[in-house]
This record gives sequence, structure tokens and C-alpha cells, in this order.
Amino acid sequence: MNNSASSSPMINSQEIQSSQEEENRTPLIKLNVKPIPKLFTVLNYPIIIIMSIMNVFYSLFVNSWNFLHSLFSPPQSKKKKQRKSKEYDNSTQNSSTSSNSSSSSLPPLGFLSVLSGRTSRSNSNAEKPTQQSKKFLILDLDETLIHASTTPPRADHERLYNYILDVQIDHVNCTFYVSERPHLKLFMEKVCEWYNVVIFTASVKNYANPVIDRLYHSDKIVKRLFRSSCYVTEHGVYVKDLKTVTDDLSKCMIIDNSPISYMWYQENAIPISNWMGDNERDRALLNLLPFLEAMRHLEDVKSILSFRIGL
Ligand SMILES: [Mg+2]
Repeated sequence: MNNSASSSPMINSQEIQSSQEEENRTPLIKLNVKPIPKLFTVLNYPIIIIMSIMNVFYSLFVNSWNFLHSLFSPPQSKKKKQRKSKEYDNSTQNSSTSSNSSSSSLPPLGFLSVLSGRTSRSNSNAEKPTQQSKKFLILDLDETLIHASTTPPRADHERLYNYILDVQIDHVNCTFYVSERPHLKLFMEKVCEWYNVVIFTASVKNYANPVIDRLYHSDKIVKRLFRSSCYVTEHGVYVKDLKTVTDDLSKCMIIDNSPISYMWYQENAIPISNWMGDNERDRALLNLLPFLEAMRHLEDVKSILSFRIGL
């Protein structure tokens, strides 16, 4: 008994020691799991930041050049310059008054136009895009542009909805409290100018159609597609087929808060965060504008959007 009692601690310590040695000898297992790249963040924000910085330098350079040039230019040409600048100022003032108050916070777009080989002045007159030359921009509705809820908001949140919509769905009267995502007006104004805008929603027509009617510049929306145009998977998920809009996918993009919606067309997708009507400081639509302004000049949108999925 004494032997066994005295030997057991020895054995345990040996076992512990050997197990520790085994642990030390055991090579570390390297998990070969590649992190899911947040390539939209990689694609979007650094490019916008770099381009914004370059835009500032570009603006400084142009302004300095114009100032120096005006000092040494002859009087006649100076008058012409002044007349031209007045015309340009008037045109920009007209365009800014047509937009809402948030236009002052719009990130500078000038450099992106120069980057794509065009200037804002040349675009203003001679090179206005026609409907044939415009690319298609497909926009989701719910949680992308608006948020609608059947439950009435609390009294202190009353300002968070823009209008009330009474519709009939499957012979049932429904009331929706609809909130517009911040900067929606400016966003719609710009994208309707740059693109053939299509609203493609997985919602039913009875609800979505009156919501689209109340979108800004709804008269410029070239096509409306509803739940009936979606493909329903065996799991009951709605997938949007972009070829319902156009066969030329090099000139077609979709902005949708639901990745499932564009799962067949990852190279054409621009993800956007969910907006549930509770964040009045949301800037997702505003932040997309410089990117969309540049993308409209590309020959093939997939050449840029495919970076998001690492192709
Ligand atoms: Mg949605």
C-alpha cells in the first residue's frame, strides 16, 4: 500500500511531464481559413478618401492657375473669362437650387469627372447622356431607399416617418408608416440624371407601386419590377435576375441591402447597409454618389465591381 501510495504521485507527475512534452512537440495547427474580405470597404472608402484628397489638391492647383492666369491675361480675354465664369456660376446655382439643402455636404465630384476623362463643364452642355448611352442602375426599395413599418411609431419618434400609406394587400387594408432614407432626394436627383434607374423590389406591387410614386423624380424611373419578377428559391428567398432589365451586364449595376437578391450577379452588385428608419445621420446614399458618378463612364462596370469579390 505504501509502495503504491508512494508510486502513484510519481506516475502522475511523469504523466503530467510527458503530456506537457507531447504538447510541446505537437506542432501548431495553422487554420487555413481565409478571412472574408470586406472588399466593399476596401473598394469604396479608401478610393473615396484618396480621390477626395487628390480633388482638394486638384482644386487648389486649378484655382491657383486661374488666379495667376487672370493676373497676366490681356483685358479683353479677362472680360470673356468673367462672362464665362458668370454663366457657369449661374448654371451651378440653378442646379444647386433644384437640389435640397444637403447638397452642400456632397463630397466633391470634380476630380472623379476629370479622372474619367470628362469635366463638369463639358458635361453640362454638349455631353449630356442620352437614355441610350446611360447605364442601368437597379435600386432596391425597402431598407435601401425607404423603411416602411405597419406599427405606428412612438410619439417622440413621429418625425421619423415621412408619410402614411394606406393600401390593400390580399383584400386586407394595411397602413404603412414610410420613412425616407437621409439624402434620398439628392441621391435620386443625381442617379436619375446619370443612369436609367430601375426600381426592383421583392415587395408586392400593391404596396411598392404607390411608394415608388412618391419617390423623388419618380417620373424618370424607366422601369418598375416587383415580387412577381423575382425568382423564388426552394427556401422561399427572392432572387433578382438582372437580365430581366438588360442582357448587357457590363452596363448594369444593382444597389441592394440584401446580398441574397444579387447572389447570381456579384460582379454587378454594390452593397449598401440596412436602413431601418432609426438613424437620421445615415450617409450611405450620399457616400455612394462620387462612386456612382465615376462608374457611369466605365466601359464595363464589372471591371471595378469584381474587385469586391476578389475576382
Ligand atoms: Mg431591401
